[in-house]
Amino acid sequence: MIELTLHGCNGGIGGTRRHTTCYGIGEQLIIDAGTGLTTLSLDQLKKIDHVVLTHAHLDHVACLPLMLDSVAGTRATPVTVWASSEVIALLRTHLLNDHIWPDFTKIPSEDQPFMRFAAIDVQGADIAGYFFKPLPASHGIPACGYLVSRQHDAIAFSGDSDDCAAFWEAIATEPQLKAVVVECSYPAPMTDMADLSMHMHSTALIKRINAMPAHVASVIVHRKPGLEQQIAEELNAGLSGRDLRLPEPGQRYQFG
Ligand SMILES: [Zn+2]
Ligand SMILES: [Zn+2]
Repeated sequence: MIELTLHGCNGGIGGTRRHTTCYGIGEQLIIDAGTGLTTLSLDQLKKIDHVVLTHAHLDHVACLPLMLDSVAGTRATPVTVWASSEVIALLRTHLLNDHIWPDFTKIPSEDQPFMRFAAIDVQGADIAGYFFKPLPASHGIPACGYLVSRQHDAIAFSGDSDDCAAFWEAIATEPQLKAVVVECSYPAPMTDMADLSMHMHSTALIKRINAMPAHVASVIVHRKPGLEQQIAEELNAGLSGRDLRLPEPGQRYQFG
């Protein structure tokens, strides 16, 4: 069984009920570090040993530097930030670069830093008792999804991506798959905007989900602010009989 908490699952901010991407798996591990991270207490933040990133867009990393600043001095061990080597290079150059924010991989010393980077290659990595295997994504910059497995259960995360055939092919024959957490940023009338920004839209997603085994749950994330209801109505109409979840921040699911 895998327990998933959607600290943030919106495609933007606006009010107290919208938070950008941050998913908790257990207490020690989060996927992405968007504004959903701000809903955790300081004690909860201190317990996070591993941050796994899909890509370097700000809505997925904005609160990583702030979290490090809040917890670093109180932890005995570094926080490990996992991502592809390309994403790590972007964060080193553009975010934790001693200009926008301190380089916590050297503070207080390079031997005993507050955080460390760890690259995930195509083979995947064991992280806090879960196996993370990168999945293909198509988002215009270095980006990936993940298949997260433990014992007999697995959840697939699309990350941000347009309609990426390789992602769906990779998970189609995954026997342990219980759920796919997939972005749907735009409704059907905004297909052009979805294509331009390399995000998923509801027309494409309905086809993909209907081609999946019926027992696999679909958790819809990253709906853009103000478009949530329209996307929900389109998906509900196109996916009748499927296990469709339309979460808000704070939602917790158990799969397996
Ligand atoms: Zn993105
Ligand atoms: Zn995003």
